[in-house]
Amino acid sequence: LGDSLQGALKKLIGAGRIDERTVNEVVKDIQRALLQADVNVKLVMGMSQRIKERAMKEEPPAGMNPREHVIRIVYQELMEIIGKGAEIQLKPQTIMMVGLQGSGKTTSAAKLARYFQRKGLKAGVVAADTFRPGAYHQLKTLAEKLNVGFYGEEGNPDAVEITNHGLKALEKYDIKIVDTAGRHALEADLIEEMEQIHAVAKPDHKFMVLDAGIGQQASQQAHAFNDSVGITGVIITKLDGTAKGGGALSAVSETKAPIAFIGVGETPEDFEKFEADRFISRLLGMGDLKSLMEKAEESLSEEDVNVEALMQGRFTLKDMYKQLEAMNKMGPLKQIMSMLPMGGMGGMKFSDEMFQATSDKMKNYKVIMDSMTEEEMTDPRVIGGSRIKRISKGSGCSSEDVRELLKYHKTMQTALKGFRGGKFNIQKMMKKKMGM
Ligand code: GDP
Ligand code: MG
Repeated sequence: LGDSLQGALKKLIGAGRIDERTVNEVVKDIQRALLQADVNVKLVMGMSQRIKERAMKEEPPAGMNPREHVIRIVYQELMEIIGKGAEIQLKPQTIMMVGLQGSGKTTSAAKLARYFQRKGLKAGVVAADTFRPGAYHQLKTLAEKLNVGFYGEEGNPDAVEITNHGLKALEKYDIKIVDTAGRHALEADLIEEMEQIHAVAKPDHKFMVLDAGIGQQASQQAHAFNDSVGITGVIITKLDGTAKGGGALSAVSETKAPIAFIGVGETPEDFEKFEADRFISRLLGMGDLKSLMEKAEESLSEEDVNVEALMQGRFTLKDMYKQLEAMNKMGPLKQIMSMLPMGGMGGMKFSDEMFQATSDKMKNYKVIMDSMTEEEMTDPRVIGGSRIKRISKGSGCSSEDVRELLKYHKTMQTALKGFRGGKFNIQKMMKKKMGM
């Protein structure tokens, strides 16, 4: 899923304006990617319709380019489907696992026990799978390896009875996890068994375990388990493989049960508390989307330099101030310079000391500009000798400093006139450089 979706979003790079054709094309790619990943057709259609509408209707927030705008919408819509994830409370509780055979229930039961054990809670598992040969030993071995509690009755075919005994035996444990049997397919006797175990265990949580590669049957399973015992959380396993994950998403969307954990390997440590942000980033193959979103929200509050005015050579002190502010936020000057076109200002080479000096100067410039009036910031040409004196007094800097700033501004202005067709926005250049 990651690759093709990433491809779809890449199409937006370089799309200066978002027009309907671009949006339609990208949405089509996203549709294809999601369908290939086995996301339910209805879900995909609904989502792509909303993405289309929003991308066309909503104005990209100031400071956000069209690509980021659409990515943000895709992200928000995916978030809408996936949800925030289940809240896992670190308190005594009983958890029942449900799911078909091979989905990863037993492995996940052990991983869960390990998870709570690491949080300082005493955890134990009950082997209530009497259907699959070897189920008892599988769980027992895992429990012994992890040093968590275990209860099972080898040879007893009555899963309900074992559950009953097990919960009593593990009475002193904070976390009691009941591993149950599955079947190769949804069968009436399985559902009946789950209902009976549910009735005696009275679990706080019912986790449905889904193999990430399950595809379209996920919805049906989710409905069946949800209707019988009520699903309170979903565990998606085998996300480490070439799994698609889309079926599980559909199931999540249909039951409204949040995703609780994901399994990313066979060992007990390959288990993560579900984080929607990370999951979507992984799905989109886009690295850390959360920080992109945060950056985007941040830049909403910062206006861009007026490009047209800039092209006409109107680069005011205000513009310069904004850029200095942006640079301050972005970190060390040296790093920023190296990200500018031509490897810095006109290809000039700076030494480390020069960078330090320049950084300090920039800080000084900001202080000076804070003492200027709106009029002076917009049109620095009005700044004459007496104003320079006033500004230097107000800022605590020398008149030479103020003059130097004005000179620096002039130099920048001239340099920027040379940036024909280029948009001087450090943040955007940085984002591009960082592949965001
Ligand atoms: P159950 O029948 O639902 O109890 O499923 P099991 O817990 O026995 O798991 C079935 C198989 O899937 C076993 O070989 C597990 O090792 C494997 N498995 C479970 N979870 C994961 C996972 O997150 N990643 C990988 N790669 N394999 C897993
Ligand atoms: Mg099992």
